Amino acid sequence: MSFRGRFAPSPTGRLHLGNARSALLGWLQARAAGGQFLLRVEDLDRARCRPQYLDDLMRDLEWLGLTWDEPLLFQSARDAVYRDALARLEREDRVYPCFCTRAEIARAASAPHGLSDEGPRYPGTCARLSSAEISERSRTRTPAYRFRTQPGEVSFVDGLQGPYAQDVEAAVGDFVVRRNDGVASYQLAVVVDDAATDITHVLRGDDLLSSTPRQLQLYAALKLTAPEFFHVPLVLGEDGKRLAKREGAFALAELRERGLPAERVLGLLAAWSGLGDGTPVALAELVRRFHPEALPRTPVVAREQTLVTALGLE
Ligand code: GLU
Repeated sequence: MSFRGRFAPSPTGRLHLGNARSALLGWLQARAAGGQFLLRVEDLDRARCRPQYLDDLMRDLEWLGLTWDEPLLFQSARDAVYRDALARLEREDRVYPCFCTRAEIARAASAPHGLSDEGPRYPGTCARLSSAEISERSRTRTPAYRFRTQPGEVSFVDGLQGPYAQDVEAAVGDFVVRRNDGVASYQLAVVVDDAATDITHVLRGDDLLSSTPRQLQLYAALKLTAPEFFHVPLVLGEDGKRLAKREGAFALAELRERGLPAERVLGLLAAWSGLGDGTPVALAELVRRFHPEALPRTPVVAREQTLVTALGLE
């Protein structure tokens, strides 16, 4: 199958330079391979998504020249597809209703960014309920659905991080595939969508590395072919924390609105990716410079001073 990559942001905030770097690298990887690049809107967490953020992020990508080849895919419009996948898992007894009220059930629509977001391991409280118990509990509460994980290590070779293994059963336990408000979880939706759109290469931040073994178990259970994974180390702030929570000068929309030339931002992103020295650069030139070995394997620290100089900010 020919190369198909994607960028799958959640419109829950403005894209920052770290997100832009992931989008750029995924796009370059696809273009350099003569492949296609798709944009998927991960908007399952309705309470946190805003149309303004979607509008901003599309303009940001257009500003940088990061085009996509097919109409946008909105996860919020794909409930029937996720239900169908859930039904398939149910027929094979790979999911069960869970009546626990836990904060993690509520959080399941968002991608877990980093280990601390995963919450405690699920102890399997609802894993062996009898059908009488299930009917009884269903009278007063709508259940979430959990995937029955398989014990043993799930291992794979990440294109950037090398071999990675996790015993999902021991580390995470049975995880949510549908929340109790009926919304598919991030883990289920990402697998169903990447498979449905024939994605062959997933490049994303390495805060999702530890989600990959769960996703691989879902691929196997749904008899779908998994893509290759490339987890890029994140762009960190000077305090060593990931850029994700930062705003202000790090937000692309703000740099765009200031009238900054896109080539300056591309120059900085190229420097963070081993593809340049920070001087302004055109996207076409980056396509020429890109080679897969250049993909970054260590975190980058975004120093305030470098940003100010590279971007020409006052
Ligand atoms: N929507 C997820 C996020 O905002 C990314 C999911 C993925 O790339 O697998 O981080």
